[in-house]
Amino acid sequence: MSGKTVKERYESDTLIVGSGIAGCCCALKLAESNLKVTLINKMGSPTESNTLYAQGGIVSLGEQDSSELLSQDISLAADHLGHQEAIEILAKEGPKLVNDFLIDQVGVDFTKNDKGELQHTSEAVHSARRVLFVKDHTGKEIISKLAHRVEKNPNITVLTNHTAIDLITTGHHSQTPLNVYKENKCLGAYVLDTHENQVKMLLAKKTVLATGGVGSLFLYTSNPACATGDGLAMAYRAGAKIINAEYVQFHPTTLFHRDAYRFLISESLRGEGARLLNLKGEHFMEKYDPLKDLAPRDVISRAIYEEISRTDQGYVMLDAGNLADRGINLPQRFPTIYEKCLEWE
Ligand SMILES: Cc1cc2nc3c(=O)[nH]c(=O)nc-3n(C[C@H](O)[C@H](O)[C@H](O)COP(=O)(O)OP(=O)(O)OC[C@H]3O[C@@H](n4cnc5c(N)ncnc54)[C@H](O)[C@@H]3O)c2cc1C
Repeated sequence: MSGKTVKERYESDTLIVGSGIAGCCCALKLAESNLKVTLINKMGSPTESNTLYAQGGIVSLGEQDSSELLSQDISLAADHLGHQEAIEILAKEGPKLVNDFLIDQVGVDFTKNDKGELQHTSEAVHSARRVLFVKDHTGKEIISKLAHRVEKNPNITVLTNHTAIDLITTGHHSQTPLNVYKENKCLGAYVLDTHENQVKMLLAKKTVLATGGVGSLFLYTSNPACATGDGLAMAYRAGAKIINAEYVQFHPTTLFHRDAYRFLISESLRGEGARLLNLKGEHFMEKYDPLKDLAPRDVISRAIYEEISRTDQGYVMLDAGNLADRGINLPQRFPTIYEKCLEWE
């Protein structure tokens, strides 16, 4: 799937920038309608993305659960600042797509119990156990299966080491100056082929930006290096209105070690019962929110900050000692996290 190249000027029906879960799902759906799709990733591997590193799981519906309940929980997690219509679509369509598309069509093999039933875990603010997972490497399983299907699809051309630099628009790039008075249309993107060191024109009737988030703009981040907000910047330069850019969601807990990078310690550990502890040994979340260790991420992050600012140590602890009492074998349930922590023992 990687290592392909195309001519300096290349045309397809749709250009998709970014091959994480959003880009791959979009490519597969469009290819079903026999559209020719070009899917690009600026990194050397087609699967390199935030998606690859997702640990905890993906939201579906659990037992005694409903899309109404899910919708309420999403609103609460968004501090009631979310777009209600979008939340309702997500709550209604999301779990259905996880089942019909990711499980039935793509073949994602979520963790099952001894009876062969899908297992659910919990994460912050969810009032039901409704998160499907694959141990603690859910994203890796999802993106590997998606990439495999993408690779086999004759309607999709995947280009790695291809960085979109800017969108080609009639407003900016037309040879007819009077076009600036007309509606701005996107005709594709200028893309740098970093192997051939050449800028190419990837033209398309439709262009989709699926470039992920902006985490790598911060000094400390759980995101991979590719998350630099390129799509937002390109869209802004093309005249799109950017909203809610001030809402950056932080993972509250990462590994803290002088020499280690900030490896995520998934929220699902708290979903299974782990609790935050300050340096005095107090389970401090009780002071901050009735949902305690499963409060919304912004509440948890502020509480951790508050606790840290009372000491000069710069960290708090996560107590997972009670997981065994709950019948959870930590090395088996969270193998990636367990091994990563052992590396820095
Ligand atoms: C460590 C970690 C753990 C997470 N755990 C969970 C979890 O348990 N559950 C959950 O729901 N979510 C989780 N998330 C969030 C989740 O991974 C993301 O929300 C999701 O993967 C975003 O998918 P995406 O396709 O929009 O973006 P991405 O997966 O980031 O894909 C974007 C792609 O665009 C490419 N790209 C960017 N700019 C350009 C450019 N200029 N030219 C070409 N290509 C470009 C990137 O290389 C990348 O391949 C986690 C995230 C991280 C980092």
